[in-house]
Amino acid sequence: MRSKLLGTLLLVAVAISADVSRGKGRSEEDTPCIDDNKFYRNPYAPARDVWSTTECAKYYLCLDNEVFEFRCSQGLLFDVSRQICDFKANVDNCDVTSETRPPRPLLGNGNCEDKHFACGDGTCFPAAYFCDGSVDCPDGSDEGWCGKVMCYLGINVQLFQNLGASRSLSHDPNKVGKHWSRRISSNHVRNDPNGASACDPTKCQLPNCWCSVDGTQVPGNLTASMVPQMIIVTFDDAVNAENFELYSKIFSDDRKNPNGCPVRGTFYISHQYTNYRDVQYLWNIGHEIAAHSVTHRGPEDWWSKNATIEDWFDEMVGVANIINKYAGVRLKDIKGLRAPFLRVGWNRQFLMMSEFGFVYDSSMLAPFSDPPLWPYTLDHRPPHGCVGTEQHCPTRAYPGLWELPLNQIWAGGYSCPRLDSCSSELSGEDVYRILMLNFKRHYLSNRAPLGLHLHSSWFQNPMYFYAFTKFMDDALKLNDVYFVTSHQAIEWMREPTSLNEIEKFRPWRCGTRQFQPFEVACDLPSSCKLPSRVLKSYRYLHTCFECPKEYPWLRNEFGLE
Ligand SMILES: [Zn+2]
Repeated sequence: MRSKLLGTLLLVAVAISADVSRGKGRSEEDTPCIDDNKFYRNPYAPARDVWSTTECAKYYLCLDNEVFEFRCSQGLLFDVSRQICDFKANVDNCDVTSETRPPRPLLGNGNCEDKHFACGDGTCFPAAYFCDGSVDCPDGSDEGWCGKVMCYLGINVQLFQNLGASRSLSHDPNKVGKHWSRRISSNHVRNDPNGASACDPTKCQLPNCWCSVDGTQVPGNLTASMVPQMIIVTFDDAVNAENFELYSKIFSDDRKNPNGCPVRGTFYISHQYTNYRDVQYLWNIGHEIAAHSVTHRGPEDWWSKNATIEDWFDEMVGVANIINKYAGVRLKDIKGLRAPFLRVGWNRQFLMMSEFGFVYDSSMLAPFSDPPLWPYTLDHRPPHGCVGTEQHCPTRAYPGLWELPLNQIWAGGYSCPRLDSCSSELSGEDVYRILMLNFKRHYLSNRAPLGLHLHSSWFQNPMYFYAFTKFMDDALKLNDVYFVTSHQAIEWMREPTSLNEIEKFRPWRCGTRQFQPFEVACDLPSSCKLPSRVLKSYRYLHTCFECPKEYPWLRNEFGLE
């Protein structure tokens, strides 16, 4: 099936610090469509240019007759046989247009005796001959698919990491096809002829699919009283000296979940002004690091109206690459993203996310719901309307991609999308009361995770800090309340575990992590004063790694000159 292959190839290929080209994503008219689900070079590129770094960094993908142009990050070239971007020294096929591959072996599906496998043409060989490095099958199929086999086993993640510039993709070989095109103009699912279908609980099953008709159902057939009440605290934007201490105080090691692990949160990082040593430290101690764009640019509605798939890629894969390079955070740990200003980017955002292996989004505002909504996967239509003026929620299905919607905060008489957008007039007592009100709204009903989505500046009011931490301490007196990261909440939903078993639940354990020496945050980071051509000024970048030459930015994540 075509889609299965597509998943695999994208996993290997675009994953690697590939940059989608500037412009409209549609390549110039002269690049033909080669629709075999592989990346290819333009066969019409002038022969004298094929070895140039510009030409050899370009590659294309054709889907539904539409050609998409991509370009590797600065300093990298596209390797058409491995379908990845890699350093110049490792790429020797700039003159090869498309990958040629032998047929797929039948392996155990042929008619061979015990301990033998079948080649693509049915010839049998001992199983050990397959992927041993030398060609035995007449059709070459014994060696031609080894990379893919490894991919299915997840081994290729290592290759990505060696390049320091990749994303590892969550890889589900059963992923169904993505039928999409950019020709549709309506943003409403009812008008989208290819729109996602309504929730069908008989078809949608955990761990990879979850929906319920009104979005409020507890997963795993558990009664609410057996469900740990999850509280997801998130912070957006740059992490730096202005807020690092605040984060250390809020997530102090004295505040422990009932399983003995310290409370943890999720940081949606935007690049500018971020101190990458601090990010590295937060990651080391078990917080989740997620993507919130390179530029965080305005105007706000650019994200929902104008940003192309390529822009979403540049911004979100770009910031993931920067975090990986300067904070050492493993790419496979950067699983989620949040749109700047919570400006959802319609199908374009979600298409990019599913193609590039993000696990979840947490940008969609849900209308007030009592009981509150549980997260869900986008296999089906979201169980709620799209809140906000000029918002563009996705209309298509994105199987296996999770959405952690933002439930409204009930402030008694009115509701607000986020606690820190409620009202600046609130007193500390008000804040404590609102927190408790919403906690009970979740805890005493369906125990949907309670999301507290904040910005550090809100804590400039010391009364709010006091109220918030008092709320945390009071909630932690209960033995069924856990402060977890966004992705830990998804892990729980994938495998709903009752309170009886929760202390043994692996994804919530702590201290199991082994770090390489370079992955551990240093005490004395370099303060790199770096010019930025784009920003037309200097920026400081604090990192435990080597200073780049230029301030990293879109399409130049490694800060090359
Ligand atoms: Zn933001």
